[in-house]
Amino acid sequence: MKITDISVEVTSEPKAHAVRDAIQLLDRNGHTRVQIDTDEGVSGVSTTYFGRVESSPAVLAHLITDQLAPAIIGEDPALIRGIRQRLQTLTDYQGTAGLSSYGISAIDLALWDLLGKSLDVPVWKLLGAQRTAIPTYAMVGWLELDVAGLESVSAKAMEQGFRGVKMKVGGGPLTEDVQRIKAVRNIIGPDAPLMVDANQAFGYSEALRRGRVYEELDCRWFEEPLPAADTDAHVRLAEKLDIPIATGENRYGQAAFRDLIARGGVGVVQPDLRRAGGLTDCLEIGLMAAGFGVPYASHGGGAHIHVLAALPNTIYVESGLLPEDGRVELVDGCYPLPPGPGLSSWNG
Ligand SMILES: [Mg+2]
Repeated sequence: MKITDISVEVTSEPKAHAVRDAIQLLDRNGHTRVQIDTDEGVSGVSTTYFGRVESSPAVLAHLITDQLAPAIIGEDPALIRGIRQRLQTLTDYQGTAGLSSYGISAIDLALWDLLGKSLDVPVWKLLGAQRTAIPTYAMVGWLELDVAGLESVSAKAMEQGFRGVKMKVGGGPLTEDVQRIKAVRNIIGPDAPLMVDANQAFGYSEALRRGRVYEELDCRWFEEPLPAADTDAHVRLAEKLDIPIATGENRYGQAAFRDLIARGGVGVVQPDLRRAGGLTDCLEIGLMAAGFGVPYASHGGGAHIHVLAALPNTIYVESGLLPEDGRVELVDGCYPLPPGPGLSSWNG
C-alpha cells in the first residue's frame, strides 16, 4: 500500500459558550482535518482542535499541505515511526516543537487511523489493550462560572456517572479558590476525586503557598502549577508538596518529558496528542513514565482513549460532560472502548 494524497480541511468559528481558565479565554472552535488516501482505497483521518487563535487551523493546514505532505507521498503508510522520523528531520531547522509538532501529530494520528481501518480493527486492539474501559472524570469547573454555576455543573457530572471532577483555580485570590473548592466538594461528596488546574498561572512561591492549601482541601492533584517548561521549579515543588503535581499538556516531544519524569518533577503525566507528537509519542512517553512508576492521565479525550487502553499506568481519561445524544454511557465511572475500526472515538 502507498500514500497517494493528503488533503486538509479547515474550520474556525466562535464557540457558543466561551470558557475561561487562569490564563486565557477559549472562545473559538477551530479544526484542521487531515485525510490520507492510498492506492488501495483505504483512507485515514485526524482532526486537530484549536480553541483560541482564529488563524491557527489555516496556518497548520498550510504547513501540512506545503511542507509535510510532499515528503511522504508514495510512502508505505504502515511505516508510522519511519514517517515520524522523516518529518522530524525535515522540520528540525525550524524546530520540531510548536506548530511542526501539531503537523507531525496530525499525520501520525491519520496514519494510525488508516492502519486500523485497513485491517478493520480498532487501534486499541493493534496496541494490545490492557483493559476494556477507562476511568474518567469531568473537567467542568471553568472560571467563567460563578459558585452556583460550578455547583450545578458538578452535580450534572456526578449524575452522568463520572468518578469526580476537575476545576480551574488561580483566577483570583486564594480565598476565592478555597470558597469554590469547598462548594464543589460539598456537591460531589467526600470520596469523589476533585482535581485542581492552574494552567501555568503561578510562580514557584505562590504555587507552593496555594499547593499547601489545595492539599489540605484533599484535592487529588495540582495540575500545571507552574510554567510548563520550568523543570527545576517542578522538581523543587514536588519535593515540598505531598499532593501530586500533574503536568505535560504543554510539553513537546519525548525529551521534554524525560528529565521531568526522571527527576521526580511530575506525579501524574498528562501528554497532549497534538503537542507531544501524536499517538506514537504519547504511547512512548507513557511507557517511559511507567518505567518510573508515574501514572498517566490524558490531556483531553477523543482518540487518546486508544493510548489509555494500552498503557499499564493509565489512571484517567479527561472528559467534558457527556453529549446529550446518548451515544455513550459510562459504566462504573468508565468510558467503554470504542468498537469502530481505526482511531474511532466517542466524540463524534
Ligand atoms: Mg489542564
